[in-house]
Amino acid sequence: MSVTAKTAVVTGAGSRRGIGRATAHTLAAAGWNVAILDLDEASAKEAAHEVAERAGVHAVGVGCDITDEASVDAALAVLDGALPPVGALVNNAGITSPTPFLEVTGEEWDRIFAVNVRGAFNVTRRVAPGMAERGFGRVVFLSSVSAERGGGVFGGVAYSAAKAAELGFTRALARELGPHGVTVNAVAPGLIDTDITGGALEGERKQQLVAGIPVGRTGRVADVADLIAYLCREETGYVTGVTYDVNGGSHIH
Ligand code: NAD
Repeated sequence: MSVTAKTAVVTGAGSRRGIGRATAHTLAAAGWNVAILDLDEASAKEAAHEVAERAGVHAVGVGCDITDEASVDAALAVLDGALPPVGALVNNAGITSPTPFLEVTGEEWDRIFAVNVRGAFNVTRRVAPGMAERGFGRVVFLSSVSAERGGGVFGGVAYSAAKAAELGFTRALARELGPHGVTVNAVAPGLIDTDITGGALEGERKQQLVAGIPVGRTGRVADVADLIAYLCREETGYVTGVTYDVNGGSHIH
C-alpha cells in the first residue's frame, strides 16, 4: 500500500511558521493524507485547508490538547472513517522554557514534561497498535539539540530533560515495534526560525548563537521537514532507533 492510501498525523502543525506546518506540507507533497492535531483548533483547521488545497490530498485539522487523554481519544475518533489508516505519526507539538533551574517550579517542570513527553505518549500509545496490526508505521519524535548538548540554546533544564526523555522513548519503542514493521526515529533540530520562543530570542544573544553555527545561519523549517519526510518514506524501513541532527553543525559529536 503506498502512502497515498495512508494518513500522517502531525501534532502541533497549527503554528503558521512552525516545523509541524512545514512538515505537513512536505508529507502531503509526497502523497500522504494529513491529520493535524493542535491545541489551537482554528489554526489546525486552517492548516489542514491549506495543505489539502496545495497538495490535493485529504487533510483534516482537529483541536486537541495532547496532554489530555480524552481530548486525544476524541480527536483520533474524528479521523476514523474520515481519512485512510494512520501510517505515520510526527510527535511535533512541544513547548519550551528558558527558566533557570534554580528558579523553575514543579508546576512548570510538569507542564514541560506534560506536553513534550506525556503528550507524545498519549498519541503514540493510541496509534501504535493500529500500525503494528497493519504491519507498517513510521514514528518521528521532535527532540532537540538541547537534549544532546545540555541546553545552551534557549530551553533550560526542564526542556533539555524532556527532550532527552524523547530520545529514550524513541530508542526503546524502536526495539519493541521493529518486528511489526514500525520504525521509530528522532530528529534533533538546532536553532530553527519559528515562533516557539515567542520572540524571546533576538538581538545579541541570537547573533552569538549564529556565530557558533558552522553553516552561518539559523535553520529553516523546511530543513527539518525534509528530514522528517525522509524518515517517513516506505523505503526508509531499515533506519530505526536513530537520532538525526539537523543543526547546521552547531553540535558535532
Ligand atoms: P511552535 O511553537 O511554532 O509550534 C508548536 C505547536 O504545538 C503550536 O502550534 C502549539 O499550538 C502546539 N501545541 C502546544 N502545546 C500543545 C498541546 N498541549 N496539544 C496540542 N498542541 C500543542 O514550535 P516549533 O518551533 O515549530 O517546534 C516544534 C517542535 O520542534 C517542538 O517539539 C520543539 O520542542 C521542537 N524543536 C524546535 C526547535 C526550534 O528552534 N524551533 C529546536 C529544537 C526542537
